[in-house]
Amino acid sequence: MAERHYKGRVAAPGLALGPLFHLPDIAAAADRPAGTPEEEMGRLTSAIATSKEQLALLLAEGEEMAAEILGFQLEMLDDPALVEAAAALVAEGTPAARAWQQGLAPQVEIFAGDDDPYFRARAADLLDLRDRVMAALAGGSGPAIAPPAGAIVAAGDLSPSRFLALDWTALGGAALGAGSAASHVAMLARARGIPLVTGLGQIEAVSATAVLDAKDGLLVVGPKPATERRYRERLEVDREEARAAARVVAAPARTASGRSIAVMVNVDDPDAVPDDLLRAGDGVGLLRTEFLFIGRAERPDEEMQYRTYARLLQRLGGRPLILRTLDIGGDKPLPGLALPEETNPFLGLRGLRLCLDRPDLFRPQVRAALRAAADGPLSIMLPMVSRAAEVEEARAFISMEAQALGLAVPPVGIMVETPAAALALDTMPVDFASIGSNDLTQYVMAASRDATGRVAELIDPLDPAVLRLIRIVVEAAAARGLPLSLCGDMASDRAGVEALLAAGIERVSVAPAALARVKLWIGACA
Ligand code: PEP
Ligand code: MG
Repeated sequence: MAERHYKGRVAAPGLALGPLFHLPDIAAAADRPAGTPEEEMGRLTSAIATSKEQLALLLAEGEEMAAEILGFQLEMLDDPALVEAAAALVAEGTPAARAWQQGLAPQVEIFAGDDDPYFRARAADLLDLRDRVMAALAGGSGPAIAPPAGAIVAAGDLSPSRFLALDWTALGGAALGAGSAASHVAMLARARGIPLVTGLGQIEAVSATAVLDAKDGLLVVGPKPATERRYRERLEVDREEARAAARVVAAPARTASGRSIAVMVNVDDPDAVPDDLLRAGDGVGLLRTEFLFIGRAERPDEEMQYRTYARLLQRLGGRPLILRTLDIGGDKPLPGLALPEETNPFLGLRGLRLCLDRPDLFRPQVRAALRAAADGPLSIMLPMVSRAAEVEEARAFISMEAQALGLAVPPVGIMVETPAAALALDTMPVDFASIGSNDLTQYVMAASRDATGRVAELIDPLDPAVLRLIRIVVEAAAARGLPLSLCGDMASDRAGVEALLAAGIERVSVAPAALARVKLWIGACA
């Protein structure tokens, strides 16, 4: 067959070569011709049993972020009422998959229309559960769908639960027809070092070897021998680099001329980062706390948040933890939180703006953070800041809560993600700052970070406009002796690291899976 190229966007970097494996198309399963009602009921029963096994396994693996969703889904599968409607349709001659889909639809609608935000949020979990059973139906009645070792998994899109259901330690990477680089799945892949390319369009369902080039955002299906050879050489270079990186991961990072650079890690789900990696870095430079909220059945209360932050501090063994307060809104909506409809959510009520509007969200988090700060070196970082008045308001709020608790106020800093914050850093009442180059790039370039096609090409942190602004921030921070870091994804990329060091950055925070390589690249810089 002829070599085929699909162009998409890098959502998690890396390179992989392996058999292309198409995850069963859930929608197509619904259109399979029906067997006898008995056969179809047998298939449905066994698909439900398979799904239960998969959910129980996932739950046992302790992905804390998803535990409540999985628990809810298991409970639903144990409820006979859930299967009744599908069974009635099967008895009338409807194929199992279509019956399951149609039987569940009214239940999803009931959840989606509930007044209680908790139940409304369950609609998405039920849809996820519907798809899991559909996938089991599409893949036959055997055990969990298992792609071959080293496979490049191709799918239209992936829900977090389908992503977590696969054993990525044995797989090459994922190629998605749709999806966005800023999605929840993209975050999960980046933290775990799994190459992921999104927005590839319709990927033809063929059996072939494929190359997933998650450096240039390319999927090559059926590579010609010369192409395959070229990529095998690149893979060998990559492996050699990984071996060299592993040798320097635990050592402090230094440039060739001896300049010390602090390298911290970005954490979304603390349980997804092993202890040795946590301790190899110079602390956590960005804890994305919104991921404790997203994908959870109940909103984490003060006590639960406190335990999470305190445990992470304990695991860090004295290294600093920069806790970013909730960055909800924009591309990260929180199900069940009735937010106003906005024509341009990235420019709307997100991050600190939302928290200042919603003390019911902000207060428990601030109190939990203050209590954890009494246990170790924790700083509070505010996202999506535009002007000093917002920081003053947040600081007053934090001070009041600290006073009520009889606790000290830890250092309070901001993310520099808006051109406004970058240009007026000197006016900000802060103890430290960290450049969020992901958002800063989208706001400087006026191109949404989840864009595809021509607009996506503008999301380039190495554009002279973005680099010039970063230099302005570095100078402004130096002028007032303000500790400055950069925690956007450009610091997990080789060209990004080189540009940042040249601009005078001395502290970065990177994806855990990139920590070793970043230290290696720093060593090669002047
Ligand atoms: C950023 O904007 O660069 C950043 C680190 O924050 P997030 O990617 O979570 O928006
Ligand atoms: Mg951001």
